[in-house]
Formats: sequence, C-alpha cells, structure tokens
Amino acid sequence: METLEFQAEARQLLQLMVHSIYSNKDIFLRELISNASDALDKLRLAKLQDGLEADTSDLHIEIESDAEARTLTVRDNGIGMTREEVVELIGTIAKSGTAELLGKLKEAKESPELIGQFGVGFYSTFMVADKVTLVTRKAGTEGHGTRWESEGAGTYTIEDAEDAPVGTTVTLYLRPKDEDDALFDYADEWKIKEIVKRYSDFISFPIRAGDEVLNSQKALWARPRSEVTEEEYHQFYRHISHDWSDPLEIITMKAEGTFEYEALLFIPSRAPHDLFQRDARRGLQLYVKRVFIMDDSKELIPDYLRFVKGVVDAADLSLNISREILQQDRHIQMIRRRLVKKVLSTIKELMGSDPEKYATFWREFGRAVKEGLLAEPDNHKPILEIASFATTEGTEPTTLAAYVERMKDGQEEIYYLTGESRSQVENSPHMEAFQAQGYEVLILTDPVDEIWTDAVPEFDGKKLRSIARGSVDLPKDEEKPEPEGDFGPLLSFLGTKLEEQVKEVRLSHRLTTSAACLVSDSDDITPALEKMYRAMGQ
Ligand code: ADP
Ligand code: MG
Repeated sequence: METLEFQAEARQLLQLMVHSIYSNKDIFLRELISNASDALDKLRLAKLQDGLEADTSDLHIEIESDAEARTLTVRDNGIGMTREEVVELIGTIAKSGTAELLGKLKEAKESPELIGQFGVGFYSTFMVADKVTLVTRKAGTEGHGTRWESEGAGTYTIEDAEDAPVGTTVTLYLRPKDEDDALFDYADEWKIKEIVKRYSDFISFPIRAGDEVLNSQKALWARPRSEVTEEEYHQFYRHISHDWSDPLEIITMKAEGTFEYEALLFIPSRAPHDLFQRDARRGLQLYVKRVFIMDDSKELIPDYLRFVKGVVDAADLSLNISREILQQDRHIQMIRRRLVKKVLSTIKELMGSDPEKYATFWREFGRAVKEGLLAEPDNHKPILEIASFATTEGTEPTTLAAYVERMKDGQEEIYYLTGESRSQVENSPHMEAFQAQGYEVLILTDPVDEIWTDAVPEFDGKKLRSIARGSVDLPKDEEKPEPEGDFGPLLSFLGTKLEEQVKEVRLSHRLTTSAACLVSDSDDITPALEKMYRAMGQ
C-alpha cells in the first residue's frame, strides 16, 4: 500500500469541500451518477469504435445504502480506471485556470457560482462523507484492480485490489448527522430516490436501488418541450456543462425528412472563466440515435458561439464516425449552419421579448460574438443586428438600428472611435467637433473591435466610419466661421519641421479646443490598431 499526497490545488479544493461551501449537499450524488454515466458511455464507445471486447448487455448504475453502517455505495460497470489513471484523475485537478479560480474562491466565501465553474465532481463527496473509497478495474485489462481511499485531508492511499470487477465502485462513509441534517439522512432510501429523481432522471442508463429502477431514462432532447419541466432542463444543463447557475436560454430543435436530427442547446447566463483561453473545452455533445458518440464536438458550432452548450442527436450518421470525418461531413455542416441561424434568431427575439436578458447575454458574450464578424462574412447582418455598443449618447449600449434612427438630418454614416477605454475615447481630440455639433459616436473598446470594423463595410446601407481616419466630412456647419487670417506660412513651417513624423499638416474644422490632432489616411490602420500590432511585436 502506498500513501500519496494530493496535488496542492486538489488539496485546496478538498478543504473547501470538507468545510462545505455549497449550501446544497445533495449534489454529490448527481456528481457520482454523472461520472458513472460517463464511464458507461465510454465503455460502449470503446467497444463500438475500438473493438474492445466487453460485455455491454447490462450497463447500469447501482446505489446501495446501509443505514446502520452509515455507508452509501454507487457502482457502475463502465470503463473503469487503471492505477495510473486513478492517481492522475482523482489525485490532481488538471483543469486550466483552477489556481486562479481557487484564489477568487477564498476571497468570496459563499460563491456557488464560482465553484460551479470547476465541475467539482468527485471531491463533492467529502461534503457528506469523512472517508471515501473507490475500487476500480479498467475494462480490457488483465489482473488486479485498484483500491483508493482518503479522508479528504492531505493524503490518500492506493493499493492493488485482487478481485475487483470491471467498472468502479465508490463507497461513502457518511459523516455523523448534525443539526443541519436533522430532517434527512443520505443513508435513507427515500431520500436517495428523491435526489436521483430530481437531478438525474434523464440519465440514459438504469439507476437501480435493489430491484427498483429510479430514473425514467428519457432523453430530454427527444421529448416535446411542453412535457419537460424547466427544472429537468436545468438539471440536464448542469450535467453537461458543470455550470452551477441556470442557463439564460433553452433552445430546442427538431428536423425531420431527408436528414433527421434533434438538438437541445443552452445559452449560459454567464461567461466561463476560460472563454478566451485557447485550450478551453468547447463544442457540443454528439449522439447518434440516443447513443453518445463524443463530447466537445467543435464541428457543430463555430468558435464565436463557443459558449453554447448542448446536444445534437443525428439519426443518419454512422456510429463509427470519427472527428476527422466529422470535419468534412456535409450533414454536419448543414446542422451547424442551422444551429447558428437558430441561436442568432433566438437572441434577436430576446431583444424584443426580454431586453434585460438580452443585455446580460451581450455583456457576457458580446466580445466573443463579434469575432463572428470576421469568421462569417455571410452572417454580418444577423450578427450586427444582435450587437450593441457603448455610445456618446447616454450610458446604456445602443444597437445599430437605434443609432441609425437617431442620426441627424444629413448624416450619412455611422461614426465610431476605437480605443482602450471609454474615457480615453471620450477625451480624444478626434471627438471634439463631433461632440460640439452633437453627433453621436460609438465607443468601441474591445480589442476585437479594431479588427472587425475593418472587415465590415456597412450596416443598413450606412457606412461605418472611424472618426480617427482621413478627412471625415462633417456635414457643413453654417454657423462656424472660417478661421481668420492666413495660415499658409504656419502650415508649411510645421510641415517642414515635422517632415519625418507626418505626411501632411492641414487646417481642420474638427477641433474646437485642442490646437492639433493626429489623423491617419482613410486606408491606413487606426492609431489604436497600430498600437496593438506594435504590442504584438509586428
Ligand atoms: P469530471 O467528471 O468533471 O471530469 P470528476 O472529479 O467528477 O470531474 O472526475 C474526474 C475524473 O475521474 C473523470 O473525468 C473520470 O475520468 C474519472 N472518473 C471519475 N469517476 C469515474 C468512474 N465512475 N468511472 C471511471 N472514471 C471515473
Ligand atoms: Mg464528474
């Protein structure tokens, strides 16, 4: 027997579990069942795709409780783990950004939202147990299995387990009941039944307690929306997303005819911490006729909508489909186009039906969505229609449609200025004449704004125009007198003095209080973009 230490981050997370920062402890069972269900999916898939020899005729999950001994056992006959896998998967937290999140968690004690982003998973067992054992054997391996045990402190033990069956058994030694738990006990059968029904009813394998099957096993996406409760959708969302909060919006789709598929999509209510990290998990789950095929299928949804979670169940794909084939599959491409259309139109409807929800959506995901303006020229219109931007007119963001509506008589173009922050943009000398004459200017401060504005020529027939570039023609202001005197000598003097730095020195109407400002040619890059490129070392 070997005694090993948990990796530092794992230890920290365990600490939080032991001190139970979740008010709702029931979720430990959901996490165990979720892992068991994943393990059963993996075994079925290994047999199907890799030809692993395994008996998959009775894939199931079993729950056993012993009120006297105060133990609760969850067993599956799924893929199991090797000893190395146990050490790697249970002894460490491999997820990126964990350290950073743990730091934040310590600051904000009661924060289920934050911790939800971990998918705390297996460690949540230590909220209700003071000792946990896990016995497992990997399918397709000879010899012994592995036994793991821990009390949730700094260490765990690991040893060979001679006659472990294929699959995984997790046993919880429940903590003594305290006042909080006065009303129930996790060793009570009825309590277990209730939790399974509430959190895990949709799990597609039977969850048994004795002779009884506790869950209905109905695939949620296959059921008519009117027959599924909000709560059921939310639980399913948690199962696939590991997000603790409820989704912002639920989208169901069903296509019949030559190519059949069903989709159940969720728009989260807040951005994951790794939305802008390259190695973050993204993509949808792919099923073929109710059989789980793969997680994180990026082919089903474009990058700029990477925050969308959900399931696509396609009827006519081969069960053996690989990621490589997916990339070229015509049907997958068609599904993807339809999903994009549906997501964008759902957001557009939200703008009208629930402006507050829409505002949340845009605040959380707008930065990602704008990447679509570069990635999908065909979708400029629907993306611009759901976009909103900060503006010199008030503190609330505006849509382009609302901007166009407010345009002054004679104004032909949509004015914007990019920069690093609102105050920097507002105080830019470029802004002066526009402000003075009461023209509204969009304030664009996301890095991606520098790039998409170059790729998108117009909205609703109105050109998008950076006020930092070229000689933006402000519609004539009759009130304004011509500058007095002859500036010729001054201009040529400055032109000679600054020969190395600028192309030309000219007289301008665009300033009111500043003496001078820098502008670029219409086809030059904007100063901010120039700065960005420089920062990137180009
Ligand atoms: P997550 O499920 O989000 O990956 P968990 O903490 O729940 O995180 O589980 C960690 C990993 O341990 C899983 O990804 C899986 O590889 C492995 N694991 C956990 N439970 C089981 C099980 N019952 N059978 C096989 N592997 C499991
Ligand atoms: Mg899990």
